[in-house]
Amino acid sequence: MAQQMGGQPLLVLSEDSQRTSGQDAQSMNITAGQAVAEAVRTTLGPKGMDKMLVSDSGDVVVTNDGVTILKEMDIEHPAANMIVEVAETQEDEVGDGTTTAVVITGELLDKAEDLLEQDIHPTTLAQGYRQAAERATEILEENAISVDSSDTETLESIASTAMTGKGAESSREELAELVVSAVQSIGDEDGLDTDNIKVEKVIGGSIGESELVEGVILDKERVHDNMPYFKEDANVAVIDTAIEVQETEIDAEVNVTDPDQLQNFLDQEEDQLREMVDGLVNVGADVVFCEEGIDDMAQHFLAQEGILAVRRAKDSDTNRLSRATGARVVSNIDDITEDDLGYAGSVAQRDVGGDERIFVEDVEDARAVTLILRGGTEHVVDEVERAVQDSMEVVRVTLDDGQVLPGGGAPETQLSLGLRDHADSVGGREQLAVEAFADAIDVIPRTLAENAGLDPIDSLVNLRSQHDGGDSTTGLDAYSGDIVDMEADGVVEPLRVKTQAIESATEAAVMILRIDDVIAAGDLKGGGSDDDDDEGPPAGGGGMGGMGGMGGMGGMGGMGGMT
Ligand code: ADP
Ligand code: MG
Repeated sequence: MAQQMGGQPLLVLSEDSQRTSGQDAQSMNITAGQAVAEAVRTTLGPKGMDKMLVSDSGDVVVTNDGVTILKEMDIEHPAANMIVEVAETQEDEVGDGTTTAVVITGELLDKAEDLLEQDIHPTTLAQGYRQAAERATEILEENAISVDSSDTETLESIASTAMTGKGAESSREELAELVVSAVQSIGDEDGLDTDNIKVEKVIGGSIGESELVEGVILDKERVHDNMPYFKEDANVAVIDTAIEVQETEIDAEVNVTDPDQLQNFLDQEEDQLREMVDGLVNVGADVVFCEEGIDDMAQHFLAQEGILAVRRAKDSDTNRLSRATGARVVSNIDDITEDDLGYAGSVAQRDVGGDERIFVEDVEDARAVTLILRGGTEHVVDEVERAVQDSMEVVRVTLDDGQVLPGGGAPETQLSLGLRDHADSVGGREQLAVEAFADAIDVIPRTLAENAGLDPIDSLVNLRSQHDGGDSTTGLDAYSGDIVDMEADGVVEPLRVKTQAIESATEAAVMILRIDDVIAAGDLKGGGSDDDDDEGPPAGGGGMGGMGGMGGMGGMGGMGGMT
């Protein structure tokens, strides 16, 4: 970037830098943001379509989940990435509503573009949007319905709503029951942490055969064929070192001159292993979980003692085992005491979908639960897992907050009506921004209708007239196409899903709108402006090759237009 100063060019930025400013920068960023939103819009709601994402290495993911789609897409444009962050924040905070948040962001940008063309200043727009978002949160809170933590029926509706359209359709009710019992069982004084629910995927069988096990399941088998398949009333030892003879640190060479010496050496090893196993037997261990290897000879001794042992257990599993059974993780077997052992009423090796697993059940700490998810193929199970993760999070959030909203576009209709009312009291040019915000929110019911194959205009008009008449819980049932009471229909979502979506969408849109200058450091892709040094880069979006453009998204959702 060169500027003239007394005839001498003054270089402020390096020659390779690319700069886009003013309206060009704005429209470039808006277009990028819209493109991202447009890419996930068709997946919204129960009748939304899925996407098949193929990575560089050929891995295939089939999903309907907003944040998963955006994470799998190779998005490079910085403004587009801000929208991806909206989805990520939504996922972290509430676990659901990622598509909603992104679609609203895109629509806020879209409406802003119209106002910018009418010469409304971005700062005014930003202020108007912020005001609208504040009022929107109030409206949502006013419409929220309280839910008691013992209201299992509503919790199951919430769990089920979060799973709609995510490949779990046939068994949504059963899964919702499992999810609610799982989340209810992990509660303690420190609150709820869904990390305490382990989800174990099993390929084979049907989704409906999924089950909840109060305890820990390891994707392992007993290490020796002569070991028992199950133990009742088991004392459990958890060890994080190998049950093997320690190799010397230094590479020692043992010179054996006669057979007796060799035998001696082997006997010594055997004695050491015998001692280790005896240590476990003496403290009364019935089951041994070892994070490392177990020597063949030691396996044989353990089997002889009727001990069920597992080797190379994952440390995440042994941590859970330790918490569940009360066992202390032991590093030095020589020092093991009875106090180090934990307890499980039952430890058993069972077959699940053709795979042997070790079930540790009837444990002291009932917070350890494992959800076994089953499904016909890997892709099915993966998508069901994502649905279940969303579902667990919304149940957790509901138990935390105790506030829910009806779904199916009901809250959004309340919002757009309420915000239009509010706009009158704002006045000035900001009023236009508040109205634009209200229009933008309509994108949710409109898209739900579109994706369900219904006429979006008819649906919106119907919804509005119901809400105008005071039916604040009326929404669009995407399955029947009817306008019904969503609460009675069992379509409910946590309040926080909606408030968070509005908040992050507004923040991201405002941030993008306030940018009027994009300065990109050297052209990394080597598209080079080396030859035209005095003129600098061409103005407009065309010169943004250095920021990667939208290259990675070319094939997805018609983003080829961004160059
Ligand atoms: P997100 O990633 O935003 O959660 P989803 O694809 O899960 O996107 O769709 C969520 C939207 O679908 C919400 O607005 C929710 O109210 C709506 N929804 C869920 N179930 C139904 C239903 N049976 N009828 C109509 N809308 C529904
Ligand atoms: Mg959802």
